[in-house]
Amino acid sequence: MPDALAARLVPGQRVKVPFARRELIGVVVGPVRDEAPPAYEIKPITALIDEQPLLSEALLALCRWTADYYLHPLGEVIAAALPGPLRRGEAPALRPPDGLRLSDAGRAVLPGLPPRSATLRSLLTLLEPGVRSASAVRHALPNSAAALKKALDTGWIERCTDDSTPLALQPALPLTTEQAAALDALQAAAGRFGVSLLEGVTGSGKTELYLRLTETVLAAGGQVLVLAPEIGLTPQLASRFKARFGDGVASFHSGLGEAERARHWLAAGSGSARIVVGTRSAVFVPMPKLALVIVDEEHDGSYKQQDGLRYHARDVAIVRARDAGAAVVLGSATPSLETLRNAHEARYRHLKLDRRVHDTPPPRVHLLDVRHAVLENGLSPTLVDAVARHLEQGHQSLLFLNRRGYAPVLLCHDCGYVMPCPNCDARLVVHRARKRLACHHCGHVEPQPPACPDCGGRQVPIGQGTERIEDALTMRFPEARIERVDSDRLKSGAALTKLLADVQAGDVDVLVGTQVLAKGHDFAGLAFAGLVDVDQALFGSDFRALERMGQLVTQVAGRVGRNGQPGEVILQTHHPEHPLLKLLVERGYPAFAQVLMAERQQFLLPPFANLALLRVEAKTDGEVMAFLRRAKALLPASPSIEALGPAPATMARRAGFQRGQLLLKSASRAALHRGLEGWLPEIEALGQQTRQRWSLDVDPGDLF
Ligand code: ADP
Ligand code: ZN
Repeated sequence: MPDALAARLVPGQRVKVPFARRELIGVVVGPVRDEAPPAYEIKPITALIDEQPLLSEALLALCRWTADYYLHPLGEVIAAALPGPLRRGEAPALRPPDGLRLSDAGRAVLPGLPPRSATLRSLLTLLEPGVRSASAVRHALPNSAAALKKALDTGWIERCTDDSTPLALQPALPLTTEQAAALDALQAAAGRFGVSLLEGVTGSGKTELYLRLTETVLAAGGQVLVLAPEIGLTPQLASRFKARFGDGVASFHSGLGEAERARHWLAAGSGSARIVVGTRSAVFVPMPKLALVIVDEEHDGSYKQQDGLRYHARDVAIVRARDAGAAVVLGSATPSLETLRNAHEARYRHLKLDRRVHDTPPPRVHLLDVRHAVLENGLSPTLVDAVARHLEQGHQSLLFLNRRGYAPVLLCHDCGYVMPCPNCDARLVVHRARKRLACHHCGHVEPQPPACPDCGGRQVPIGQGTERIEDALTMRFPEARIERVDSDRLKSGAALTKLLADVQAGDVDVLVGTQVLAKGHDFAGLAFAGLVDVDQALFGSDFRALERMGQLVTQVAGRVGRNGQPGEVILQTHHPEHPLLKLLVERGYPAFAQVLMAERQQFLLPPFANLALLRVEAKTDGEVMAFLRRAKALLPASPSIEALGPAPATMARRAGFQRGQLLLKSASRAALHRGLEGWLPEIEALGQQTRQRWSLDVDPGDLF
């Protein structure tokens, strides 16, 4: 490498490096410390892409922490932190901002402008109410180019980033007493690192507090990162921030085009975007003035990435805030046990909002014993009657079932043959609308056979999915507008936004859906919710199944009966005596969480233990187990690490591969990490030798 080039190298710059016959893009992380290991060769850098580093030191440090903690290659972490075009070495110029707005100076001169400046006056008047895009201005005032140039030169008009800003910003709402107390506490904690858990029931006005706190932070020149668990929730959240603060709000999620994501990434890095609202990958967006991180619905499992770099965005966000000296607010009506424990042990400040803003009493939740009821398509007469009653009163209802498709099993009535997935230990789900069978684990689809492939008998769909509930209700209530909300029906975020708008407008009578529905959405007219099958979750195989069930039931119930009227919730179950289910219904999530917490402590599970999971896939079960046994033998001896397994995965065969796992558990995070660091090179070597696919998951979300 020429010395002149070497002298210009700074960590965070992108460079071109030769690799075999190709040239790849790399990021400078530091000088080479050691000799190349045997069989490796150190090659010189051929060219520099950025004079100024693209990744700040802070962002690189975050990537390094993430790589170390999740035991993932640093290069892949950096690649995950960069939007596609930047990763490929492109240098998209920041598009000049397209919005125009009146400056304070412009506002001041407007009344006194002389009559001969008619065009200038029209121009300033046009912008008086708020931001307009340059093209909208050209359209409204075709001959205003010269006046615009003059106004920009004198500073009466300024360019700004966003043209989608509403014309009039929404003012802050006067706070309730409870909100005001929580805001005081949050504000006292602002300006430095510290984590606050804002535990507020649905509709208690948490978002309003996020906005108030953001206002304070922006006024002090800081930037704010807002994380939401789902793409579907970001537009709503972003629009509430835009409505309050105008331009300078950038969204960041996989629903945006690559180029747009790169633009928002750069805008946040340059400070021109002051607020970033996004899903988990937004945790890596550069924000040099980061002063506040808000993690909304912090309990949501979607914050944990399930493949590749298996990071937990909430946890990375907290580390990032610590390093940046920023405050963190974790908001939820149903906090995770991890967060609750941190709050109980006073590592986090614990703030509560117990009342809904509109003082709606909490819904009546009824555990409906369906053991002897005649269920039609999974629905009891009581549940159907409740829907009918609410329809008559012009109220909206929601039926929740966490299973998409028509029926989870297609069974032969003559011989009992069940249609299996050819690649997985799973049954094919009947999708009646598209007349086909699908595997929800590997994506296999096939047409529904005309008769049983085994005996030619008649096949019947057993059990229900959302499609079947939708069908059953449509038959029963032909006049009602019934909409299904699940990932089959809503391929795009736009479709969800449209549907939610229809729901808000009162155009939908009954919603049938999966967990897409349970999250964060604000349905003002909803008076009734029916949970078709809570038993599924009661006997889930994962240790978090009950926690998730409690969160889900509470979240669904929280959508009901807003705007002054109490709502009604029915949970269909075959286990009305289940102690935890009763506790949840009678005493609510906090009491329920407390009992779960005691159980986790007793069985030494998170948050009382730290877990790491080694997963392996191979063609045969023998190969899987052999790999895992050898891996277990290679584990550095440590009295504080327990290795459980090897064992087959809950679904032992998936997408044509046998799967197995080894679970590591330790009361000490530090001891576990020391063990894992020593172990990783051994597993890597084993992987190369056997050519088998493996992954190591630190803090796994589930143990499948
Ligand atoms: P959460 O995020 O806790 O579910 P939101 O912040 O969405 O609650 O508030 C629920 C509803 O109450 C929203 O429509 C919001 O605009 C409204 N709201 C929040 N705070 C106030 C307030 N102080 N006064 C009047 N309405 C409020
Ligand atoms: Zn399958």
